[in-house]
Amino acid sequence: MHVLLVEDDDLVASGIRSALEIEGFAVDGVATAAAADAALASLTTDLVILDIGLPDRDGLPLLREWRAAGRREPVLLLTARDAVADRVAGLSAGGDDYLLKPFDLDELLARVRALLRRAAGFAAPVLEHGELRFETASRAVTRAGRSIALTRRETALLECLLYAGNRVVSIEQLKDSLYGFEADIEGNALSVHIHNLRRKLGADVVETVRGVGYRLGAAKAP
Ligand code: CA
Repeated sequence: MHVLLVEDDDLVASGIRSALEIEGFAVDGVATAAAADAALASLTTDLVILDIGLPDRDGLPLLREWRAAGRREPVLLLTARDAVADRVAGLSAGGDDYLLKPFDLDELLARVRALLRRAAGFAAPVLEHGELRFETASRAVTRAGRSIALTRRETALLECLLYAGNRVVSIEQLKDSLYGFEADIEGNALSVHIHNLRRKLGADVVETVRGVGYRLGAAKAP
């Protein structure tokens, strides 16, 4: 999953970035409202973490503009302001959740996962599809009860497909979601990960939609 992190405090930003990357998220970090706007327009973003106090502009009017323009990405707001009125203003501007600085990184991760699940229409912390089961907190994957060891990238790829449900995910979206815009990706890296997912989980787990991308296969017992 691909997270856009908008935070001008380098120390806070690098803490969030490493916590997310360890969990297999691809993170793009920007420090101004203008850069956030440009990044959101050009990348496939699954979730935005938005600091309200940015150097060039306040985060709330920016978020209001995104919502008015029809952007639906879940937004987790970060703020140092602890008044009830500020919290209400944040949520009514279109924020989906709110975290007060300083915060615990584990809490941030839990909220990020909850927002992504809700956005994909899952209420429980476990994503299930056919015989597949993915626990979003421990990142454990099983098929028909058998536990399967996946690498960080394979897990992130499977998660992305699970969140998409029956939708086809384009190759560009998958690359954005795995690597973000900073990484240089070899042309066949994605197909290698797909190949490994099929080898470990079963060939019916991922369907190729020729010329478009990939989607989850049935993953049902034969
Ligand atoms: Ca700030």
